[in-house]
Amino acid sequence: MIKTALETGKVVGFGEIYLRLGFAPFAREGIHTSIEDKGVKAMFNMANTYKVPVQIHLDAEYSSELEILLQNHPNVTVILAHCGYMQPEKLGALMDRHPNLHAEVSLVFNSMIPRFANLPLVDGRMRPNWKDLLVRHADRILVGTDYSGFRADQAPKLLAYYRQVLGLLPRKTAEKIAYRNFDRLFVK
Ligand SMILES: [Zn+2]
Repeated sequence: MIKTALETGKVVGFGEIYLRLGFAPFAREGIHTSIEDKGVKAMFNMANTYKVPVQIHLDAEYSSELEILLQNHPNVTVILAHCGYMQPEKLGALMDRHPNLHAEVSLVFNSMIPRFANLPLVDGRMRPNWKDLLVRHADRILVGTDYSGFRADQAPKLLAYYRQVLGLLPRKTAEKIAYRNFDRLFVK
């Protein structure tokens, strides 16, 4: 059934897949799936065959596992949800080493969910470590919301914040992060 959906273009990627999740409102004890899991391996093989990205949730303390995953599947685009809650320096180093690693900034760029926030702006100015990462890896960073029906009422405020962040970047950089990267990955 997944094969048919991929072949017909009804599905253009996998995710969000919970590999190493410490906490979520719907999973307070966390969720742990080994990268050695048969289902995970099959999914990555399928992503490679059909050339579609996989968005994963993997918390920062498991970055060594992430590196193995990226090495094992160099031709699969991996999108790290909520940037793995990593500090920008650590994420930047991982992105330098692994050209298949992409990242989306939901929750970390969101002051309305303080538990996960690691905001790029202080007093209306961009923190240099985030700016460096956004500029240097503009081709592989995407905005995201992590909203479904749940929390969707926050969307206008979040999007206003994203506009403020992107407005402090060079226009071409901002356009990539805002929508061009998404189009390249998902709109065929
Ligand atoms: Zn997640």
